[in-house]
Amino acid sequence: MMAKIKVIDGASIENYHYENWLKYWKKYSEEPVLYCAERSCLCCGNLIGTHVKKTNGDHNIYIIPLCPIHHSNKHEIHVNNHTKFVPLHQEGILELV
Ligand SMILES: [Zn+2]
Repeated sequence: MMAKIKVIDGASIENYHYENWLKYWKKYSEEPVLYCAERSCLCCGNLIGTHVKKTNGDHNIYIIPLCPIHHSNKHEIHVNNHTKFVPLHQEGILELV
């Protein structure tokens, strides 16, 4: 099933100010960041580690890489099947700060 997500306002989350969420995503996904996670987006530059919630799944907060356009999209986004969702968890953040 294709994941659908909504971008959530990172500023409302504790530890939002960790400076590089893309680095966090890379570390825990163990994948290089190649493209925006939106299913038809081929944007591969200036990707942003973005806080998202699945709209058809659990209620956890995840980080995925999105381009600046999809990062600021307020609507539901369909995500590529191969995208790794990296859950937001305290230990990881503390390690990387
Ligand atoms: Zn995009």
